[in-house]
Amino acid sequence: MAIATINPATGETVKTFEPLTDAEIATKLDLAERTFQQYRKTPMSQRAEWLNLAAAILEENKTHYAQIMTQEMGKPIKGAIAEIEKCAAVCRHYAENAQAYLADVPASTDASSSFVRYQPLGAILAVMPWNFPFWQVFRFAAPALMAGNVGVLKHASNVPQCAIAIEEIFHKAGFPEGAFQTLLIGAQQVDRLLADDRIKAATLTGSEAAGMSLAAAAGKQLKKTVLELGGSDPFIVMPSADLESAINTAVTARMLNNGQSCIAAKRFIVHQAIADKFTTQLVEKFAALKVGDPMQPETDLGPLATPGILKDLDYQVTESVKCGAKVLIGGKPLTNRQGNFYPATILTDIPPGSPAEKEEFFGPVALLFAVADIDEAIALANSTSFGLGASAWTNDDGERDRLIDEIEAGVVFINGMVKSDPHLPFGGIKRSGYGRELSKEGILEFVNIKTVWVK
Ligand code: NAP
Repeated sequence: MAIATINPATGETVKTFEPLTDAEIATKLDLAERTFQQYRKTPMSQRAEWLNLAAAILEENKTHYAQIMTQEMGKPIKGAIAEIEKCAAVCRHYAENAQAYLADVPASTDASSSFVRYQPLGAILAVMPWNFPFWQVFRFAAPALMAGNVGVLKHASNVPQCAIAIEEIFHKAGFPEGAFQTLLIGAQQVDRLLADDRIKAATLTGSEAAGMSLAAAAGKQLKKTVLELGGSDPFIVMPSADLESAINTAVTARMLNNGQSCIAAKRFIVHQAIADKFTTQLVEKFAALKVGDPMQPETDLGPLATPGILKDLDYQVTESVKCGAKVLIGGKPLTNRQGNFYPATILTDIPPGSPAEKEEFFGPVALLFAVADIDEAIALANSTSFGLGASAWTNDDGERDRLIDEIEAGVVFINGMVKSDPHLPFGGIKRSGYGRELSKEGILEFVNIKTVWVK
């Protein structure tokens, strides 16, 4: 894929970039390595000061950064502004809490003193996706930098200006030049980076295919990885739930970011007693969404990020319909305008074996299932290869406890939409990946957990 800004709302190629040469990459890795040797010794209070400054820069320029995102990947501008604010919040969270997260942990043993100390590893490679082009990077970078690591970013090829802007933010905030560097490179250059001794570990957020490829290459080098991959999150609604709140949240949970979120609610599993009401209202609310230019504040649904995503989604819907699924609204790309627009769509009567039953739909398509009871709801929720998030709606204590215990996912939200929060760990199981980001668990992924024993 060419490294370029191509406006998804118009198809216009705004700017193209040449990938770095091997020599340019080597220079940057040298700088990362040299910087690490000094940076690891900077006091935590100094790192926190720089990170708080990065938060301030983000907030002061939030409209500017939001516009870069929207131009490159098409998310509605109000969501883009909210994303920048969330990046500032994660910087502040780690500036405030990293010292406590990384404090020595004493242990009672046969030594006169024994404890666990957390130390940085060095340069960590982050391979990141385009869908939350600032947030995904900041949720990696804030803990990594506070822990004393340095970061090297290979961002998705369609968001190069976001990648450059993020590097600039860290430099302006005062971090040394090599503490966070963007490498404008293609996916095929990642394996060689992983083989380089100066890269100590890697994290990837993206598709299963990319995750498998990166983990295999890192495995050959015995380097640790964290993988945040796809999901097909269930959204379960039981009869005791507050139906109005569930339906309103369902719309946001599916449509956020034009439907291109790993933790979007994708499969709506609704008890048959309320399925008709839920369906009718969901159709009405989808029909009322304003499709249009993502730069306009009133737009709810913008274009998909690339023509390839549009093509893939169209194929998944068409194949599901061929298998017998019914379209309640939408179902075909919008051809009356330029850009990669796909309408809000609902599929129901989804047959086993169809793409809608087993694949991740990365766009504004809700997949509806009616179930007879909680057993069927849980079985269906768990019947995918993914295990990222789950949202379940009930006011029955027994059902709530079963949903919390029995759903196979890294994240379960009861009576709320799945979202990431710096105070809580975030990540998946099964084919959604492994490892955690955010909170204490997130910062501990890329440290040497050193055991110290003193006689
Ligand atoms: P993608 O194609 O896997 O791209 C993600 C990143 O990986 C990009 O930087 C891409 O570079 C790179 N990449 C692709 N193939 C690679 C390979 N073989 N080796 C090394 N790097 C490689 O992902 P996407 O399709 O754009 O993103 C959507 C997917 O990400 C969905 O499945 C979504 O659910 C998942 N996601 C997960 C989370 C989470 O937190 N779990 C969050 C967001 C998204 P190029 O752009 O140069 O190809």
